Amino acid sequence: MGILVQKFGGTSVADAEKIMAAARRAILAQRQGRQVVMVVSAMGHTTDHLVDLARQITSDPPAREMDMLLSTGEQVSVALMAMAIHSLGHKAISFTGGQLGIRTDSMHTKARIRSISTDRIRAALEEGCIVIAAGFQGVSDTADITTLGRGGSDTTAVALAAALHAEQCEIYTDVDGVYTTDPRLVPEARRMTRIGYDEMLELATAGAGVMHNRSIEFAKRFSVPVHVRSSFSDSEGTVISWLPESRAVPVCGAALIQKEARLTVRGVPDRPGAAAAIFTRLAGRNIPTDMIVQNVATDGRADISFTVFQEELPAALRIVEAVGKELGVEEVGYDENVAKASVVGLGMARQAGVAEKLFASLAEKGINILMITTSEIKISVLVDRGQGVEALRTAHAAFRLDQPPPPTPDESVPEANGKNDRERIIGRLHGMEDLVIESIALDETQGRVTIGDIPDRPGLAAKLFQQVSRAGVNVDMIVQSVGRDGKAAMSFTMPQESYEAALETARRFSREIGAAAPSGERQVAKLSVSGTGLKSHVSVAARAFRALAEAGVNVEMISTSEVRLNVVVRGDEGRRAAETLRREFQEELI
Ligand code: ASP
Ligand code: MG
Repeated sequence: MGILVQKFGGTSVADAEKIMAAARRAILAQRQGRQVVMVVSAMGHTTDHLVDLARQITSDPPAREMDMLLSTGEQVSVALMAMAIHSLGHKAISFTGGQLGIRTDSMHTKARIRSISTDRIRAALEEGCIVIAAGFQGVSDTADITTLGRGGSDTTAVALAAALHAEQCEIYTDVDGVYTTDPRLVPEARRMTRIGYDEMLELATAGAGVMHNRSIEFAKRFSVPVHVRSSFSDSEGTVISWLPESRAVPVCGAALIQKEARLTVRGVPDRPGAAAAIFTRLAGRNIPTDMIVQNVATDGRADISFTVFQEELPAALRIVEAVGKELGVEEVGYDENVAKASVVGLGMARQAGVAEKLFASLAEKGINILMITTSEIKISVLVDRGQGVEALRTAHAAFRLDQPPPPTPDESVPEANGKNDRERIIGRLHGMEDLVIESIALDETQGRVTIGDIPDRPGLAAKLFQQVSRAGVNVDMIVQSVGRDGKAAMSFTMPQESYEAALETARRFSREIGAAAPSGERQVAKLSVSGTGLKSHVSVAARAFRALAEAGVNVEMISTSEVRLNVVVRGDEGRRAAETLRREFQEELI
């Protein structure tokens, strides 16, 4: 008999009536022949209220006691849910995280799951019980209660589904699926019928608040199909799996992080380890860095820009200023009024001109782009916060995301992608949430062109990439960063065969706009580290930086995403860089 995990979020268990409705759903699934494990969140806004209560007592509550407090919310829900099922004449038993055997590390308020022992759950299922599991919590080696971070019940649900080899994990929530973007910001947003794990991962961290990101990482690591549906309607919902809705269109969704902040460190001495020091220290404090862009200035000093969530800015600034002093950097600047808009899609990898189209649509609306990073399946632009929502709407319209995409002919292929590897991966993992590196690839077929001083005006990126594409050049990676004197620095890569055409186009463009002559290299090396958990394990970029620095390899371009870290280095340093990264990530490489 197959196992089904059903997770009910806070709004789905907000009152007695809703608890009864959820109980009926579970009973129905059991009647249809499945063993059912329910994972429940705290009722309604309980967790918020508990956080609030704690703040009324102290502004700095001990993390261990926070976990003690917050875990009570879920304990209430599971007990009531078990009573609800009993009252309907069925067998049920509730368990806390500790009783379930969810072992975590001891990072209170953001613990990671190490292991799950399923004996007790299985025994209860065999007895015909519906098992009701408290979401969001676990227990550390010292038997202290831990929580997995806000929204963590999703992660509990998918982790249980993985550990139990469940057929599926259903996530019941107050929206009826995953949308092409946040419908509150863009009313034309459309519900997707399906979405690929990588797409969902990129969208989730890019600002689509549907699910806890770590839960999608779990789902991908263990190939658990996740079905997001509404508790309040019978809408079909959205299935998250290896299979995207379509590969025929380049973009499947768009997202916005409204509260980002940019930091720029100017004049970082160009010696091994300088950039690495900054990111290592940030990672040490668990501060995730997002769009990282570095350009090597002419005087041998580098400028590095990156973004963090706005709430992390004070802490990030403190760290960066301290490291900056030690390193002897020229200046640390920041802008706390920025937003990041991203478009995501597995189909992007197969189509040219996607970035150009995005830039052109933004230019048409007079939206200035402050930074750009691209990876295989995501393009992100940083804009002024005041223009964030408009940028999102513009991107959504430009790629016609309100329209259902044509189905892809090869619908059944991707399933194979993960299934076979699953057991092997599980066997190699020490902790269920460990970083997994799938491959470290070296691409020596590309060239790079850089224009160092593009005036910071709307429309120039659009114009440049339009000219580049007219010259028949297929651009791969693009990074735009904050240059000197309010100028922007733009670098992009392309197949070597098109290097001359790209350079010539960039020359003409620079002359036209009054920028200095571009520089370039006919052959660069692009290294791609692919895996799962690349961002939630905040130290990945820092480790790559450090390892390359120690090997004396200069990083020319970098872009980070949820599933990939791309680094461009000089052509003759590619092999060494690849070896260095393989050594650095040898433990995590499977
Ligand atoms: N109750 C917790 C929260 O509100 C966990 C969850 O709902 O997923 O963050
Ligand atoms: Mg919640």
